[in-house]
Amino acid sequence: LTLLGLESSCDDTGAAVVRTRADGGGEILSNVVISQDDLHAAFGGVVPEIAARAHAEKIDIAVEQALSRAGLRLDQIDAVAVTAGPGLIGGVLSGVMCARGLAAGAGLPLVGVNHLAGHALTPRLTDGLAFPYLMLLVSGGHCQFLIAHGPDRFTRLGGTIDDAPGEAFDKTARLLGLPQPGGPAVEGAARDGDARRFAFPRPLLNRPGCDMSFSGLKTAVLRARDQLLAAQDGLYPQDVNDLSAGFQAAVADVLTEKTRRALAAYLDLQPPAPTIAVAGGVAANDALRSRLSALAAEHGISFVAPPLALCTDNAAMIAWAGLERLRAGLTDDAAVIARPRWPLDPDGPALLGGGR
Ligand code: ATP
Ligand code: FE
Repeated sequence: LTLLGLESSCDDTGAAVVRTRADGGGEILSNVVISQDDLHAAFGGVVPEIAARAHAEKIDIAVEQALSRAGLRLDQIDAVAVTAGPGLIGGVLSGVMCARGLAAGAGLPLVGVNHLAGHALTPRLTDGLAFPYLMLLVSGGHCQFLIAHGPDRFTRLGGTIDDAPGEAFDKTARLLGLPQPGGPAVEGAARDGDARRFAFPRPLLNRPGCDMSFSGLKTAVLRARDQLLAAQDGLYPQDVNDLSAGFQAAVADVLTEKTRRALAAYLDLQPPAPTIAVAGGVAANDALRSRLSALAAEHGISFVAPPLALCTDNAAMIAWAGLERLRAGLTDDAAVIARPRWPLDPDGPALLGGGR
């Protein structure tokens, strides 16, 4: 099977071609990402209207590039997969309309993919991970612990009750005068910082379960920054580095400690080959990856973290998730509609708490 995937739910326009290997894993033949960072830079965040227009302008180019880099024509593709949500609705619509046109024009099946399933299934594309596995999905808009049972079946164990960590990284970057997206910028500054200089809170660690909270952390950074600004004539580079390091350490502590609890709950279910995997943009963070990898080693279980470019938004994960749906007999064709909200586990309250 060879699929063309389209992604346009936030600020990256993506198109990719992925095919199944004989062993059931995936091979990425092309993975085009056209970033909109430049367009949004002046606004300090993603502007939905600008994003929607840019997706509409760029998605055809992305598709053309993806096909040509894969060395394939549309009639050599078996199906078209597209992110149908959740995300900024204007962008999602651009992708869905483009995909509908391509599929109808070439007489191909159309597969609607949940963007979060795209992130959560990535370890199967990159590492051939078998179901079930424990997933920490940690991105710009989400943070949740999931047990992945199948391409369309996830149980949520808990999640953030307010901001997502990616959002917190982006806001912290803004507070410190660092560029967007904030994650890589804060991580870079933190490398030269002293995490012990500022004592930031570790919210909800004293509460059972694996729900998390990150909005207080950003307020703590704001306060610490304002105290410095009141006492001196500006923020010095060392201040920015130390604040970044303190913030990042707090996020990593919370995520690691809550992962420990999610893992305990997961191990209680006696999974055959327990594995923890991470995905989503914040999973590109090295400090977090090494903490989680150490946690897994402590429990003697394996840890899977996709390469950085497959943690942040991309269309290869959408093509792959589409491929998994197709293999499981889940197609949608004309029924693919754009959805701004779309939980991965529509049935349920989280096993151990709430959170998104
Ligand atoms: P969602 O997937 O929840 O809909 P999204 O698609 O906008 O949100 P992703 O592309 O998965 O989010 O992730 C983007 C987020 O990841 C941004 O908030 C960005 O700052 C963050 N991020 C990227 N790289 C890093 C890093 N190295 N460290 C921390 N955060 C990072
Ligand atoms: Fe994403």
